[in-house]
Amino acid sequence: MLKNIPKTIPEWREFFLSCFRSNFLPSVYVLFAFILSILLFANLCLQDKKESCVAVNGVLDLSSADFANDHVYTLGGQWLFVYGVHITPAEIDNEKYRTAFQQVGVPASWKNQKYKGRALPGTGIATYRLKILIGENAPDELSLLVPGWESAYRLYVNGKLTARAGIAAESSETAVPAWSPRIGRFDVNPGVNDIVVHISNFDHARGGPGMMPFAGNITAITSLREKGVALKLFSFGGLLMISLYHIVIFFLRSKEKSALWFSMFCFTMALRSLVINEHGLLIFFPSIPWNIHVRITYLAFTLALPVFIMLLRSIFKEEINRFAVSVVTGLATFYALMILFASPLVFTEFVVYFQILITVSSIYGLVALFRAMLHKREGAAAFLIAFFFYLICIVNDILFHRHIVPTGYIVPFGFYSFVFIQALILAKRYTTAFVIMEELFSEKTKLEGTALTLRNLSYIDPLTGLANRRRLDEYMSDGFKRAIRAGDAVSVIMIDIDFFKSFNDQNGHVSGDDVLRRVALAIQSCLRRPADLAARYGGEEFALFLPSTGIDGAKAVAENMRTATLELQVPAADDSVEQYVSLSLGCASMKPGPDDDPLQLIRKADQALYRAKEKGRNRVETAL
Ligand code: GH3
Ligand code: MG
Ligand code: MG
Repeated sequence: MLKNIPKTIPEWREFFLSCFRSNFLPSVYVLFAFILSILLFANLCLQDKKESCVAVNGVLDLSSADFANDHVYTLGGQWLFVYGVHITPAEIDNEKYRTAFQQVGVPASWKNQKYKGRALPGTGIATYRLKILIGENAPDELSLLVPGWESAYRLYVNGKLTARAGIAAESSETAVPAWSPRIGRFDVNPGVNDIVVHISNFDHARGGPGMMPFAGNITAITSLREKGVALKLFSFGGLLMISLYHIVIFFLRSKEKSALWFSMFCFTMALRSLVINEHGLLIFFPSIPWNIHVRITYLAFTLALPVFIMLLRSIFKEEINRFAVSVVTGLATFYALMILFASPLVFTEFVVYFQILITVSSIYGLVALFRAMLHKREGAAAFLIAFFFYLICIVNDILFHRHIVPTGYIVPFGFYSFVFIQALILAKRYTTAFVIMEELFSEKTKLEGTALTLRNLSYIDPLTGLANRRRLDEYMSDGFKRAIRAGDAVSVIMIDIDFFKSFNDQNGHVSGDDVLRRVALAIQSCLRRPADLAARYGGEEFALFLPSTGIDGAKAVAENMRTATLELQVPAADDSVEQYVSLSLGCASMKPGPDDDPLQLIRKADQALYRAKEKGRNRVETAL
């Protein structure tokens, strides 16, 4: 197998390229695994510095934390919580609130939490409290990264306002929602540091601190935020490019519906990476109202579902049921309209049902892909593996989120690998189509070439290379039609070599053939017009067809041929009257009418030839 080990760089290149072409899918998997491991490694490097700390009973012990390094610390766990009131930091230790506080999980929504014996609604206001214990040798100043919470907050540390997003207020008229992630700095108290958060929510179905806050030194916190933003902007750009690329393919070739759906899928995902977690959108449009922000966020993933199912259908038509596509598209459109026109309170509530639809559709997609794979559809296996891997990533993230596995968040990587494999499969489909087209084209050219050769062969006299009888007949028939239309004269010259039987008898047939060839050349050389045709009529007889030529012209051409043949100076047979091989020629000319046919003209020229023979040969005679 390794007989021909490549030696030079071009050989190695060719070796790899041919491996890639002939084992396309395995190569894609190798590439995929390679890229994925790099991404996962990068991911681990990023996550490595996050220390998971868990608050217990409203207290987070970070006294042994080393804030001098660039680690960041999660602030999740059991915080203290009061619903229905914003308690100022100054009043928080007041006796009257002592019994009001209860424990609650962060990050999480307060919705449906049991509070004073009842389940809480999603809206309302609340105060959260966390005490952080910080050791002696911590820096004087630390930072917090507070992500967007539902739907406005004010965060105090040790009594000072440290971070805020929107306006957290006690009534829906005065509250202004916002999702902007914030970095806040605070002066550290050695010992207990008191975090008090006022949250208000009148706009989202699930109020509360939905995402994890972090603490660390300013460098670590800034870099955590910057890495997050960089990653999102990176995927935004990458997905947007893939999307643009495929939309161009679709514009150039609108038969490729898969390119359209894939482009749209990547576009919705690009949009999504701008609006989740880090909210990169706010970097470009800082003053975008939450009302629009939340609609874009929900629209991005809502549209992704029908687009994805259309993509599946465009690739695996047989396996994806038209009815299923209609149902998914219909429900998604309904939800999209709701997002556009209903209040965020309504559609954020409704998202649960849409998530159920996504789950059901995913299972349907998996089954369909599995069937496509069984039916050996091109790309089905790769699609299935990529899709399956993506789903595993989702499950992993849910498990990680619940601290069941220690792997880290990998959904973005699952997703980018999925998109990457998709792009490769589509590229393969397009190039396969292209290669087939090229093969067909070269096949067609070959066939055309063969047909042309056959046609030429069937028109040529092999001995002399002149046209044959068949060609003369067709050519004369066309020439007659043209002459009838134009009212032109046409001429025919019949030619016969004199005493050729004796020449053959005396010199043999091989020399005879040679003379035939030389005479043919001499005849051909006397033709001046491209439309004139010289043909071998049979044996040692030739015929010439001269369109747009009268009898005088024909006679002149015939005379030239007679002379040209004599000038070959081929010694004639002994019983010939001439010294050299000579020709007898008969010319005939006519202006053909609709009832005339070429044979008449040939017959007349033949009679003239007969007379030339009778009169002693080596001469030109014209028809009477
Ligand atoms: P003339 O035409 O002057 O009356 O005498 P001729 O000897 O040419 O008479 P005829 O037309 O009867 O003879 C034709 C001879 O041409 C017969 C044959 O020997 C020769 N011939 C015909 N076709 C070929 C050919 O393809 N090759 C060779 N070498 N000879 C041929
Ligand atoms: Mg003859
Ligand atoms: Mg003859």
